[in-house]
Amino acid sequence: MNMIELNSNGATTDSQVAEVINRMAIHDHEQVLFCQDQATGLKAIIAVHNTTLGPSLGGTRMWQYANEADALTDVLRLSRGMTYKSSLAGLNLGGGKAVIIGDSRTQKSEALFRRFGKFVNSLGGKYITAEDVGISTREMEWVKMETPYVAGLPEYMGGSGDPSPVTAYGVYMGIKASAKERWGNDSLSGKKVGVQGIGHVGRYLVEHLVKEGADVTITDIYEDRVKEVVKEFGVKACGPDEIYDIDMDIYAPCALGATVNDETLSRLKCSIICGAANNQLANEKVHGKAVMDKGIIYAPDYLVNAGGIINCYWEVIGYNRDAAISQTENIYDTTLEVFKKSSSENIPVYLASNQLAEARVAAMAKVKSTF
Ligand code: NAD
Repeated sequence: MNMIELNSNGATTDSQVAEVINRMAIHDHEQVLFCQDQATGLKAIIAVHNTTLGPSLGGTRMWQYANEADALTDVLRLSRGMTYKSSLAGLNLGGGKAVIIGDSRTQKSEALFRRFGKFVNSLGGKYITAEDVGISTREMEWVKMETPYVAGLPEYMGGSGDPSPVTAYGVYMGIKASAKERWGNDSLSGKKVGVQGIGHVGRYLVEHLVKEGADVTITDIYEDRVKEVVKEFGVKACGPDEIYDIDMDIYAPCALGATVNDETLSRLKCSIICGAANNQLANEKVHGKAVMDKGIIYAPDYLVNAGGIINCYWEVIGYNRDAAISQTENIYDTTLEVFKKSSSENIPVYLASNQLAEARVAAMAKVKSTF
């Protein structure tokens, strides 16, 4: 689709407007704010998917989209994902996300981000922003100058700091719950685990796994990083493409999305897939069913990687690190609950997980409708 283009007298056609509203209606998005400012070069879209549970929270991504329609697709998809993530984590947060269309290496400026901050502020707290791909703390400092609705800030700015250790702890809980489901025992001692991507989250995850006596193999596209982690923890390493063929019980994707696809599923011999990466299933319906058919236990990505949003939530309501960690620990029980629903109803895990997330939103909508 083409995004709305104004004709020479500034008009749009009914069908262009209808198309955007229809796209919002597919997954019942509440509000989409299109932001542009010629003086600063800002072009952004903020999507608020659902605020039944609370204000929507989700990061801002800066990306050079091929066109505005792709940016809209991304922000609609990502904001809906945040509703599911916060719902299943038991948080009083809704789902929202923002995208800034542009090159994060060349188009960042204080003026652009402060203008963006003003747009965030104009939503009056309905959307709280945070860092995402292409954005760093420097830009969030600029956004924060124009709005208080920013989370996930570094400690020196009064925030909760790097969420990655908390995210990694949640993924570790998800892996243990998956082991319990698979082997009746959640010990990871001696289990062969392949960790793809040893960045912020992956490195902390390796630490938990090694402490528990797992037999860990890591991979990353940066060799120096691999060498560092091998040296620090005495783990094994393999090439980025070899990870799908190694002998492992557990595959932990902590780099990119869509690594569970037709090609990799024909190679993976693991019993469990559980990692931090967002959107691991290339096609949720197709590959969510395919993992089930292959007898692989797949722990939903947005459930097990919720430690980061849990940490942000505590920052919003008054930071308490112990409370954030202990709420992240609940990921273990929620993962088992999702598996139970999946097996008792004979439906793929992703679907069981989506249904539980939707059920909480629906139930809280009823609670909120009473005085
Ligand atoms: P990161 O950028 O710090 O680390 C990613 C690592 O993956 C990097 O070391 C990178 O070199 C490596 N990588 C990239 N492509 C690769 C490939 N093809 N093969 C092997 N390694 C590759 O990111 P992060 O913060 O550790 O996050 C990891 C994943 O978890 C991302 O998908 C992110 O969206 C998701 N996630 C992170 C958090 C968080 O708190 N940081 C929270 C929720 C979800």
